[in-house]
Amino acid sequence: MVKVAFFQTHKYELEYFTKASDEAGVEISFLEPRLTSQTAVMSKGYDVVCSFANDSVDRDTLVALKNNGIKLLALRSAGFNHVDMQAAVELEIPVVRVPSYSPHSIAEHAVCLLLALSRRIHKAHMRTQSHNFSLDGLVGFNLHGKKVGVIGTGKIGAVFANIMKGFGSEVMAYDIDQNEEFNYVSLDKILKESDIISLHVPLNPKTHHILNRESFKKMKKGVYIINTSRGGLIDTKALIDSLKSEHIAGAGLDVYEEEENLFFQDLSEEILMDDLFARLISFPNVLVTSHQAFLTSEALNQIAVVTMENIKTYFSTGEMPNQVLP
Ligand code: NAD
Repeated sequence: MVKVAFFQTHKYELEYFTKASDEAGVEISFLEPRLTSQTAVMSKGYDVVCSFANDSVDRDTLVALKNNGIKLLALRSAGFNHVDMQAAVELEIPVVRVPSYSPHSIAEHAVCLLLALSRRIHKAHMRTQSHNFSLDGLVGFNLHGKKVGVIGTGKIGAVFANIMKGFGSEVMAYDIDQNEEFNYVSLDKILKESDIISLHVPLNPKTHHILNRESFKKMKKGVYIINTSRGGLIDTKALIDSLKSEHIAGAGLDVYEEEENLFFQDLSEEILMDDLFARLISFPNVLVTSHQAFLTSEALNQIAVVTMENIKTYFSTGEMPNQVLP
């Protein structure tokens, strides 16, 4: 039976992966540590390593996996920016991923962040909890009629854009790959004219800091930014400065540039060492969730089933329909 070392196990995924591995006839060991070059040693005796989106799969980690005889790296994520793909190719460790799992879960979370910000739901909830029923300071705005700039109209961006059309927003799109469905404009036009900008491109050298100090300057005063894609798409320091100057009216973020050492853990007993993040969450008009846009039962089920299918297919046929190529 194929043996899988499952790194960085979270409670919420156990049920889904136990069921999917039983059905696929794959033996799975749920390990607690994050996959790094130090913990990679734990992969000895396994055929496959299953890795999460914030593992550190750099060259050293891959060398350690290779030395332990790992035959396949199965990512239980769509994004693969945490893997040194060049090193994986050189070391001949094939990498598979879950390219698509309920794009609706992420797109709906983006809408959720936007609605919470536009109707001040986070503030209203805290007020009613302490029996403060005053409405002062809670004036929101309609999404109907607003110009929404969607950067990246792949699977998730397209669902997000269509939901926004349903609200009666005017959707403008920017993507290197265009289709008939949306009104594509230049990135500059998106930056200059949008009331709301939502990011849905992958993180790569071309998209790193796609929203930077210069882009924030080009934006309309009062714009809202939504990022459910990857933290590295936004220059956080520039975002903070634009929030401080009130040029940007609010941000809904599910991802953060330096989330690796923060997200997916309970750090409530510890001192927050990341000063940039501490400043970011101090704004009343910034909503941060810790990379939970994918967290619906539908998405988790699909992630588990596709990951197990990826493994089963590779070991029974040698084929990798969901292979990651650099
Ligand atoms: P996708 O591949 O279907 O779409 C990405 C789109 O970005 C494509 O249309 C592509 O042409 C476009 N693009 C790529 N490079 C570009 C560039 N330089 N300029 C403009 N457009 C560019 O991906 P998807 O499934 O829609 O996912 C998008 C991203 O969402 C993923 O890469 C991942 O980072 C993120 N994501 C986040 C979560 C979460 O829980 N927060 C979950 C899944 C995915």
